[in-house]
Amino acid sequence: MLVPALSWAGAAAVASGRSVLPHAWRAFSSSRAMASDQGKPAVPGVSEELSSRIKDKGLLRVDGFIGGDWVKAADGGTYQVLNPATGKPVATLPRLRHDETLAAIASAHSVLPAWSGLTAKQRGAVLRKWHQLATDAAEDIAAIMTAECGKPLAESRGEVASGLDSIDWSASECRRVSGQVLETTSRDRRMLVLRQPVGVVAAITPWNFPMSMITRKVAPALAAGCTVVLKPSEQTPLTALALAELADRAGLPEGALNVVHGDAPAIGSAIMASETVRKIGFTGSTAVGKMLMAQAANTVKRVSLELGGNAPFLVMEDADLALAARGVVASALRNSGQTCICANRVFVHDKVHDEFAARVAEIVKGLKVGDGFAPDTTHGPLINPAALDKVAAHCADAVSKGARVLAGGGKPASLPERLAGGSFFEPTVLAGATIDMRVFREETFGPLVPLFRFSDDDEAVALANDTEYGLAAYFYTRDLKRAWTLAERLEYGMIGVNEVAITADVAPFGGIKQSGLGREQGTIGLEEFLETKYVCMGLGYASDDDD
Ligand code: ADP
Repeated sequence: MLVPALSWAGAAAVASGRSVLPHAWRAFSSSRAMASDQGKPAVPGVSEELSSRIKDKGLLRVDGFIGGDWVKAADGGTYQVLNPATGKPVATLPRLRHDETLAAIASAHSVLPAWSGLTAKQRGAVLRKWHQLATDAAEDIAAIMTAECGKPLAESRGEVASGLDSIDWSASECRRVSGQVLETTSRDRRMLVLRQPVGVVAAITPWNFPMSMITRKVAPALAAGCTVVLKPSEQTPLTALALAELADRAGLPEGALNVVHGDAPAIGSAIMASETVRKIGFTGSTAVGKMLMAQAANTVKRVSLELGGNAPFLVMEDADLALAARGVVASALRNSGQTCICANRVFVHDKVHDEFAARVAEIVKGLKVGDGFAPDTTHGPLINPAALDKVAAHCADAVSKGARVLAGGGKPASLPERLAGGSFFEPTVLAGATIDMRVFREETFGPLVPLFRFSDDDEAVALANDTEYGLAAYFYTRDLKRAWTLAERLEYGMIGVNEVAITADVAPFGGIKQSGLGREQGTIGLEEFLETKYVCMGLGYASDDDD
């Protein structure tokens, strides 16, 4: 029975007096922090291999987090998280379903008045504490991330830093939310615009960025005064649960952040049918995103969707080829190609094609595939065997239609026995790619760099825009006029000009066309969690001079 555990004793105190609240939270959270600091034994259900890497064992949570309690599945069901580098289990977790999700929604709803009733400064203070605790735990979080999603430790550390930035930004930015006082149309009225939190928010996140896809939703939602039900990917829930543990220690009130994971369709349908959940923030596949958008219509929920991409990368005839070659390797092969803004289709001007191709192949031949925990690994495994099959199929399709392999091309030849069950594919460069190949139409989501040719700017733009996606695009040029023109003509939500590291806490992240709706991060990202309310106030002293 979940419900009794969900009531938050502090809620009444919050409702009754703001001055008492922060002290109550501090006392409450510090007792919890002490309990978790005392070096508990490894959490049952977590592999010894993972727990031996983690200093603060209290971060190794497996249960759902509902109303401030760690809960098992009511029906006793479980599922496993596998290490993509070995294929071996990392953890066994409860498989939560419909009823637990309803409890999480109820819990988020019950604390909403208290949380949204705080000042932005008070909410920001809790977020800042969360940021501090997560900063202190950065190494542990990075290790959990590498164990469950396979990315090299250096990349995990980078993602933790970026996730921390989202929390930090939100903690400060919420103090700058403001409404408007409008110039009145009648002297017996005053007209105001208020900005208020949208209410209970559901965040549904993918496995490829187990922390930053969460923090860019959860942190601004909480900062705006919303409460949250988070459903992380079942392939990488452990990072999410560690973040929830840290939020709990930071003094976030019980129920303000809930985490449910397990049976994705059952959890998803409970969220989508709920009249209480007023907004969905989703990052994931286009297929699931479209389904959620259709389901949202029934209760007219707001939706933010960050879906697939098929990013073009244009190397113009005047590009700095060394810079562009480094850029395409960094972009296309980041997280082994499993990033929605990875360069997918590389279009190279005829005049520079061969030199550029040689440069890219040379860099790629020097990369090292392996276990994300090995210090010399530059590229980790794919998330699972299905992802590996897709990459292999895209590569084989391209080769069968005439593409030439300049580097890589298959499973790595020499991997240690320990990694025999891992989903590894070599970073691969393909020359002679054409538009009839799957790599042109479909997002590979793997370490392929297909090189296409073009002969003028119009052709490059036409090829780049020939997709239903519109997330990110990149181009390299030294020509200022060309840079402006291309930036305006490319139909994408984000453009990198001589740059691939485009993501930042201050900048709006999102796509157009079938890559999604709405933006995350930056000022616009916070506004996604605010509702607009117009207030017209009659002063009642001049009733005869207008309608
Ligand atoms: P990917 O193929 O990258 O895993 P998905 O769209 O399948 O992308 O997954 C993204 C998120 O959506 C994950 O948290 C996943 O569990 C969730 N998800 C998948 N199916 C559903 C569903 N039917 N309802 C709600 N969420 C879902």
